[in-house]
Amino acid sequence: MATTLLPFDPILPEVRMHLVMPGAPVACKVTSSESCVRGKSASFVRHVCIDVSGTPLEGNFRAGQSFGVIPLGVDGSGRPHKVRLYSIACPSWGEDGAGKIVSTTPKRLIDERRAQSSGNVSEDHSLFVGVCSNYLCGLNVGDSVQLSGPAGKRFVLPSDPAEHDYLFLATGTGIAPFRGMLMELLEGPQSGAARSSLLRSPDSIAGVTAAQWRGPCQSRIHLVMGVAYSTDLLYDSFFRELAGKHPNFSYHTVISREVPPSKGYGPYVHNYLEARLDEFAPFLSSSRSIIYICGLAGMQVGVFKLLAENSLGEQYLSIHESLAGRAPADWTTEEIKRRVHATHRCTIEVY
Ligand SMILES: Cc1cc2nc3c(=O)[nH]c(=O)nc-3n(C[C@H](O)[C@H](O)[C@H](O)COP(=O)(O)OP(=O)(O)OC[C@H]3O[C@@H](n4cnc5c(N)ncnc54)[C@H](O)[C@@H]3O)c2cc1C
Repeated sequence: MATTLLPFDPILPEVRMHLVMPGAPVACKVTSSESCVRGKSASFVRHVCIDVSGTPLEGNFRAGQSFGVIPLGVDGSGRPHKVRLYSIACPSWGEDGAGKIVSTTPKRLIDERRAQSSGNVSEDHSLFVGVCSNYLCGLNVGDSVQLSGPAGKRFVLPSDPAEHDYLFLATGTGIAPFRGMLMELLEGPQSGAARSSLLRSPDSIAGVTAAQWRGPCQSRIHLVMGVAYSTDLLYDSFFRELAGKHPNFSYHTVISREVPPSKGYGPYVHNYLEARLDEFAPFLSSSRSIIYICGLAGMQVGVFKLLAENSLGEQYLSIHESLAGRAPADWTTEEIKRRVHATHRCTIEVY
């Protein structure tokens, strides 16, 4: 990614990071844990809220950053489990409005065991259960959990959100940071009590205080959420309600394994954008627009190709000279991963 800021690049706020290291985590308490899929899904995803009050994390995180969870117990070699990162799913003022309750969106990793490197065929197809996601999803209200963080400084909203329009692209739990960012952009701190407690700490550089919130952001905002089945949509009713209340916010869903051919577009997020280029091309050509991509590793490949193929990449992509003379349609996935990078106008968090 380019390091120097160009005109119209977003100016990001200074954020706090690594206040709590994974080797010396803080003990926090789970305050709620609820399923956040739509109806009965084959996936298990929860909205987990954790009380960080009295720890260095209190009031010192931003929507879009992540925090570390250190699961109890030891791994197969008898060493303590390693930290795993989870995106913060609440606004910078927390679920409570005062920076004390942080939330995230863990999905249980459950699968048949299979070889992880391509070319290898695994004989073992026993049940594979991810350590930390299942630990976090299994915690009950009142349980203690060891946290570290915050982590990340790029995947946050600009210092002045009103200066930009937003295209948020998510797959699966990649929706987590956008829930917090959208609450921050459109909803604001909820109660008068929370507002006054935030006003007592105006020097916090990490948190957005109530005093800084200027009312619902009037920027144009698109959220495109891609999942396999419609039952996997996360926080779906919240986003629908938000779109109903704010005409400048559009919520789009892309369902990869249920799309009837009559819809006329392929199953993924970039196919959806491509089918609506008459709306998205002018949006993406605007010097105000910025893109955030979060979710499955590799989801940026289709988006990059779409931007380049439609001459929309100039603001968002830095393309290696070896590809510059070739038609983007001929670029391979490997070439895109290695030779196309996002600029400051396009922020990516994939895992
Ligand atoms: C910045 C960031 C933010 C994140 N935010 C979130 C979030 O909001 N929500 C969320 O759910 N996750 C999030 N993650 C992912 C999260 O950190 C964990 O990687 C995820 O929960 C799995 O962890 P686990 O301990 O359950 O699995 P682990 O026990 O660590 O197992 C995962 C590893 O096992 C291997 N593996 C996976 N499947 C199989 C299989 N079928 N057979 C054999 N081996 C396999 C893979 O190598 C994989 O790396 C985020 C990651 C990052 C980097």
